[in-house]
Amino acid sequence: MSGFRIYLSPPHTGALERDFVLRALDSGWVAPLGPEVDAFEAEAAARVQMPHGLALASGTAALHLALRVVGVEAGDAVLCSTFTFAATANAIRYCGGVPVFIDSDQHSWNMDPELLAEELERRAAAGALPRAVVCVDLYGQCADYAVIRPLCERYGVSLIEDAAEALGASLHGKPAGSFGDLAILSFNGNKILTTSGGGMLLGRRRDWVDRARYLATQAREPVAHYEHREVGYNYRLSNLLAAVGRAQLTRLEAFVERRRVIRSRYVEALSDLPGIGFMPELARARSTFWLTCLSVDPQRVALQPETLRLALQEQRIEARPVWKPMHLQPAFEGFGCVGGKVSEQLFQRGLCLPSGSSLSDAEQDEVIAIVRQTWRDHS
Ligand SMILES: *Cc1c(COP(=O)(O)O)cnc(C)c1O
Repeated sequence: MSGFRIYLSPPHTGALERDFVLRALDSGWVAPLGPEVDAFEAEAAARVQMPHGLALASGTAALHLALRVVGVEAGDAVLCSTFTFAATANAIRYCGGVPVFIDSDQHSWNMDPELLAEELERRAAAGALPRAVVCVDLYGQCADYAVIRPLCERYGVSLIEDAAEALGASLHGKPAGSFGDLAILSFNGNKILTTSGGGMLLGRRRDWVDRARYLATQAREPVAHYEHREVGYNYRLSNLLAAVGRAQLTRLEAFVERRRVIRSRYVEALSDLPGIGFMPELARARSTFWLTCLSVDPQRVALQPETLRLALQEQRIEARPVWKPMHLQPAFEGFGCVGGKVSEQLFQRGLCLPSGSSLSDAEQDEVIAIVRQTWRDHS
């Protein structure tokens, strides 16, 4: 339904973004390269403490290149969080890779490190280690990299962190986007920061990010005529959009802080309702709370998340079910999943509430009132 009054996570832009984009336009660099792109790459990489950044047309493009760079080819197994947006798994298929999904655990909703350990051990014994692990920082919370990263290192498997929802988050004081060999960010219109559409690949190794840059630029060889040894892509971010990204990046801390306040206001206003809970935050983690996710326990209240969603929609307020796990998606039928019951249950119980950094207290109070009333009507 279009024409919501209150959106789930709308773009938050203003005079600063306008100034930055006009300056870029006036500079004449209206192209997928230029000084704004270079500066945006450097600034974003510095923010997540990764040495190298590559600005791209989308987070999905960044995932695709990350998988290409670590060498995923047709038939290669890639272990992947099942509880995520389809882009994570789609990128594996673009390379002909074979996703093997890993379930979430209850206390982080992210990839269960024990299931990952079991699967890596099983595959090591069978001589069938995966080419990579793609681990998602769901709804803005880092996965448990204190366990996941050493595991990947022990088996020599590349770790790709999908931090599309988590720019500005941290774990043990280290920023989201810094935990893998490679990481990706998204600047889609509904993410923490937006360039309308865009993404970034971040990497530890210069040669890997350089290779991704080459592939993203039609795999053009550095000679005067158009020479191509490989099939490349047109994945670079426009210089104008990089300018928007730079403006947004200066506001990152404020945006994250606002989303965190929104989440704690929901928790305070709704936690007294039996059967209503929220996605937990790990100790030593600081989530962006990109979206505040509520969960409804059917054993304690006869209320479906879908009923809540429709009650909000009735008032032209947008709420959304949590991601449907990849192992339940027809597009990924036939690919394996290690575990699966936890994310299936989260999918049945979860609902994402309006969480944009531009949401006002008055708007949020309206959302809260509708959730409380609907709960009362069903208890
Ligand atoms: C948004 C998102 C992506 C894809 O990013 P785009 O910029 O929309 O291509 C990938 N993974 C996750 C977890 C996301 O939320």
